[in-house]
Amino acid sequence: MSNYDVLIIGGGPGGYNAAIRAGQLGLKVACIEGRETLGGTCLNVGCMPSKALLHASELYEAATSGELNNLGIEVTPTLNLAQMMKQKDESVTALTKGIEFLFRKNKVEWIKGWGRLHGPGKVTVTLADGSVRELQAKDIVIATGSEPTPLPGVTIDNQRILDSTGALALPKVPKHLVVIGAGVIGLELGSVWRRLGSEVTVVEYLDRICPGLDDETAKTLQRTLSKQGMRFKLATKVSAAQATAKGVILDLQPAAGGAVEQLQADYVLVAIGRRPYTAGLGLETVGLATDKRGMLENQQHKSGVPGIWTIGDVTSGPMLAHKAEDEAIACIERIAGHAAEVNYEAIPGVIYTKPEVATVGKTEEQLKAEGRAYKVGKFPFTANSRAKINHEAEGFVKVLADERTDQILGVHIIGPSAGELIGEYCVALEFSASAEDIALICHPHPTRSEALRQAAMSVHGWAMQA
Ligand code: FAD
Ligand code: NAD
Repeated sequence: MSNYDVLIIGGGPGGYNAAIRAGQLGLKVACIEGRETLGGTCLNVGCMPSKALLHASELYEAATSGELNNLGIEVTPTLNLAQMMKQKDESVTALTKGIEFLFRKNKVEWIKGWGRLHGPGKVTVTLADGSVRELQAKDIVIATGSEPTPLPGVTIDNQRILDSTGALALPKVPKHLVVIGAGVIGLELGSVWRRLGSEVTVVEYLDRICPGLDDETAKTLQRTLSKQGMRFKLATKVSAAQATAKGVILDLQPAAGGAVEQLQADYVLVAIGRRPYTAGLGLETVGLATDKRGMLENQQHKSGVPGIWTIGDVTSGPMLAHKAEDEAIACIERIAGHAAEVNYEAIPGVIYTKPEVATVGKTEEQLKAEGRAYKVGKFPFTANSRAKINHEAEGFVKVLADERTDQILGVHIIGPSAGELIGEYCVALEFSASAEDIALICHPHPTRSEALRQAAMSVHGWAMQA
């Protein structure tokens, strides 16, 4: 039986960051990961491969749509999908190898196999050759992540009916792709295939896209994606799917009930959310149970059982890689006896469509529900010189600040490089900055970041450039 200070089950952004931090703090640590490669969902089949395809498809569309021609760059593009997939896979391999390097650098042992709790302080690992290793640790961190939520009646076969992993590796461009779920995955991967030539129809149960996103921002995003050719069927449910060798026939119905209509697709992507993954983890051997959604609860990363901690997608909060990373750091600091806290009020979210959407803090709808008096400052990218000169002037920056104290409560950006821009307001929220603070800070010209300042000025009615 090998002995450790900390054992981490799962090698995704939660698990690998926890392992690295534990190594840095001098703890004897091993990370148990059953996949062939480290990095979890994020590096292997999530954030990174999707961003590789979003980047490549955006450039392809710039060439096919005439955008490059307008700039005086005349090209006749040909799609080489096999090469697009190859460069994506090569980048993913380089990133997963990078985590192996970081493990060696920080003295983290990677135990390649599937871990299972085996009573308090004990974990067994089934290795690739079928043999079983027994391990012991004072502290065990569960970072086993999540998996796609299945949709009854629409069985994923990753031939014609795909989950996100299947949609990241299609061998050809679908003629018609139907996406079920107008959330982050549906809109990002729907954008990829539309740019590469697919007709894309998004079927959403609710009467809006991206539930939880600021209303006005979501409406603007839907309008922009519709202009790009993405079709939306909102307030609609899929009641059955029939896959054949050539495609899929879907039965659609109004969400509230009513007549069934049929929709044909050559591929269907099911993207209706993800659920925590704890299958085969032996929770019962330590007396741990999940809630109805399969989620492990936590109190400052502690599970209900002493010595067992939970972080990342497997526990509450947004299912985001940077949230898992934040929890990893705080959890290990606490294990090492240090003070640490995650500020769940300041976790940004980004949708990597074109234009991008980025948000941090409260939405207008949340502030209204809380009865909190707030002011709004808005600035359109049409009035930002850099966005205009680059022909990417769609969208706005919206700043919500407390009416009395001027403290920034929420920021919602739709526009070019929104995902990079939001970082400034993450800092602002962490430092409890006021809108006036941002309005008085010098920003470089000409940059899109000037729109951040102008929106803050607009909170007090003195935006100068719109
Ligand atoms: P995971 O990354 O899921 O890692 C868990 C790991 O644990 C897995 O590798 C699994 O094999 C392993 N494991 C499970 N059980 C065991 C066991 N018993 N023994 C050993 N190993 C085990 N988030 C963002 O922030 N930005 C994005 O742009 C983004 N894009 C995404 C795109 C897609 C298509 C998808 C699907 C997700 C995306 N996400 C994104 C979400 C992000 O991937 C997750 O929030 C993040 O990976 C969660 O990290 P985690 O460590 O909790 O879990
Ligand atoms: P999601 O929760 O973002 O969206 C799911 C959508 O499906 C919602 O709009 C929901 O109303 C709809 N839906 C649910 N049941 C339905 C049904 N039966 N029929 C039709 N629509 C239905 O989930 P996702 O897009 O699958 O993404 C999963 C997770 O991965 C998210 O939590 C997200 O945080 C993460 N992710 C993040 C990024 C990013 O940060 N850029 C990218 C991809 C994924």
